Amino acid sequence: MSNIAHLLALGRDVYLPVYRQRQVILERGQGARLWDSEGREYVDFSAGIAVCGLGHCDPDLVAALAEQAGRLWHTSNVFYSEPPLRLAEELAAASRFAARVFLCNSGAEANEAAIKLVRKWATAQGRAPDRRVIVTCRGSFHGRTLAAVTATAQPKYQAGYEPLPGGFRYVDFNDATALEIAMAAGDVAAVMLEPVQGEGGVMPAAPGFLRAVRALCDHHGALLVLDEIQSGMGRTGTLFAHWQDDVVPDIVTLAKALGGGFPAGALLAGAKVAEAMQFGDHGTTFGGNPLAAAVARVALRKLSSQAIEANVTRQAAALRAGLAALDGREAVFSGVRGRGLMLGAVLKPEYAGRAGEILDHAATHGLLLLQAGPDVLRFVPPLNIGDEDVAEGLSRLSAALRAFAG
Ligand SMILES: *Cc1c(COP(=O)(O)O)cnc(C)c1O
Repeated sequence: MSNIAHLLALGRDVYLPVYRQRQVILERGQGARLWDSEGREYVDFSAGIAVCGLGHCDPDLVAALAEQAGRLWHTSNVFYSEPPLRLAEELAAASRFAARVFLCNSGAEANEAAIKLVRKWATAQGRAPDRRVIVTCRGSFHGRTLAAVTATAQPKYQAGYEPLPGGFRYVDFNDATALEIAMAAGDVAAVMLEPVQGEGGVMPAAPGFLRAVRALCDHHGALLVLDEIQSGMGRTGTLFAHWQDDVVPDIVTLAKALGGGFPAGALLAGAKVAEAMQFGDHGTTFGGNPLAAAVARVALRKLSSQAIEANVTRQAAALRAGLAALDGREAVFSGVRGRGLMLGAVLKPEYAGRAGEILDHAATHGLLLLQAGPDVLRFVPPLNIGDEDVAEGLSRLSAALRAFAG
């Protein structure tokens, strides 16, 4: 058996079968390109699920990682080291609202911390357990731990894991009237949502929706928690997506692109909630380790630059124009939605459910692409992707769609 066949067989046999990987073994990456073990090259419109915001092996990230690797890897949080202290300081300043920061390793952990922080805060307010409800939105995705998957208001992620933790209530995304009704009893401690729903189909908050949510939260004394794990770190054209919605949140969670590919997560807490957790109330062994923090500091500095913001605007326009042109020929999309370089192309009803097939064709044609549910192609390329990579990716997508539809 060839080595690749051996590895693919190993993947089928040795992992818990919770993913259905495309049948390639990726070996090396540079910028927005990747190479597999047979030397085939790919344009990367997936960026490791919106993680590699600076592409693969960005030289500044590599240097930060290598330098820190020769210095200090891990201390645990019972001792200080400088990289996570600086990262927390820089994140709080960049966020324009946070008073304190909790560093962790992933999105689910950041949201788990946010859920616990909401409850501690509500407890300190004298709210009984049944008055600490967290409202989330249908179509959301907040991660896979038991509480985060309960916040994730999509049955497909929850089925079979019952009993789920209590204290969550669901409303339709972008429906302020439904939220008003859901909060009327006065038992809601927080509303938690994504400014642009990612896994749920790349669905942006409608103009004015987040402001309406903020107003309802203020009226009922509830917190606004924004999950910017996918939409944050410059992806939508501003460092945080919610800046475009003109709201100030109480809690923001980050992960994905925060570490540029190195695992890192963060919870940012505004002044109202920053003191709600005290000594011994929460913790993590690996969170904020110096390696992750050293890399994340560089990622934050680069991703919050004018150059990245300008490139996101430029390439988002190129991608939208290219998708429109391509659809003029292939006629497979009913529309393209999203913000910045977080775009979703919705398949026409006659192709509903077939996004996975298109992804297979894309990989065969040298393009790594994602779906967001069965009906949406998701485009989340590196934020520093160049003109040529966007054009080449679109041309490979065009070939893949011809193969799919023909
Ligand atoms: C990916 C994602 C998560 C979960 O992050 P993990 O690092 O996989 O735990 C949570 N929320 C949103 C919006 C995400 O896109």
